[in-house]
Amino acid sequence: MIGPERKAYPKRARDSRKHGSLTVDELKALYEKSRGKVIVFTGAGISVSSGVSVFSSKGGLYDRARRKFKVKDGMTLFSDRFYRKRTKEAIQFFAELGLEVRSASPTSTHFSLVDLEASILRHVTLNVDGLLPRAGASIWDPVKNPAGKTIEFHGNLQDTLCVSCGDIQTLSLSDMKKLKAGKDILCGQCSKSLRPKIMLYDDHDGELITPSYVWDVLKADLLEAELVLWVGISFEQSASVSYYRRVLRLAPALKMVVVNPSEEALWNLKSALSEIPGPERLSSVLEESDSFFKALVEGAGPSPNQTPTHKHRKFRRIVTSHSSSSDRSSPSALREQENLN
Ligand SMILES: [Zn+2]
Repeated sequence: MIGPERKAYPKRARDSRKHGSLTVDELKALYEKSRGKVIVFTGAGISVSSGVSVFSSKGGLYDRARRKFKVKDGMTLFSDRFYRKRTKEAIQFFAELGLEVRSASPTSTHFSLVDLEASILRHVTLNVDGLLPRAGASIWDPVKNPAGKTIEFHGNLQDTLCVSCGDIQTLSLSDMKKLKAGKDILCGQCSKSLRPKIMLYDDHDGELITPSYVWDVLKADLLEAELVLWVGISFEQSASVSYYRRVLRLAPALKMVVVNPSEEALWNLKSALSEIPGPERLSSVLEESDSFFKALVEGAGPSPNQTPTHKHRKFRRIVTSHSSSSDRSSPSALREQENLN
């Protein structure tokens, strides 16, 4: 996680009853049964094998920035307050993060999610690493691409936002280097200064990054959905817990499955809930996202219009030769997004 905020929910005693554990094959069968009616939420875990190592590693960029700015936690670095107070330095820091992420490659999970877009009703990612659009995902945009399947809920480090006219652009490498060097990049439409399009805690420009009516879009999706997967989300951050709660509120009868290699994710979630849904409503699969999606894609087989492009196949080879780390982390949710709720 970018900001390793840990919400101090009291841990529930782990009961001996297995809480709706599913095998990958069982979830695959559920997925097939609900084909076209599946909503997927993804978090930092899906980028673990991407080579993004700067965020949580000791001595990494985040660690260095925390010491440089003399702040005690991640929430401060990614807060609107800090951004307003030290705007230039904050922008330089985000540009540095963006440049680091740029050198990472999408994982096989990112490509699988692109391949599965036709059989998924919606994909909501909490990650800001921008690896999904690089893998070819169709990114939802209320104006430019309302039919997009994937919603980058917290923005994307590779994009800039003009708070004056609302224009959003993807940064070129040279512009990102300029931002890192402390130079201004001006909006092509209105010549005002640009800011990174990532959601900060209590972001005053949040409505321009992810408009609150995105929940109307999700509400409509949830009315159609049969299954919601929470993949690579540790539920250590209160934002992801609040999204879960909101989805539960909007669709209390939906089947939800947490997919994570660590059982901590489910326990974190359960610890944060006042009432735990039964195993018919909430269950888990203990699996890494790369192998889980590999199994899913193999079972589904690519649909005719989803045959991976040459570019994808080339990228896949790069990813395969790149996926060596197992404990790296990547950027993810940044916001106490209660005001989106
Ligand atoms: Zn502008």
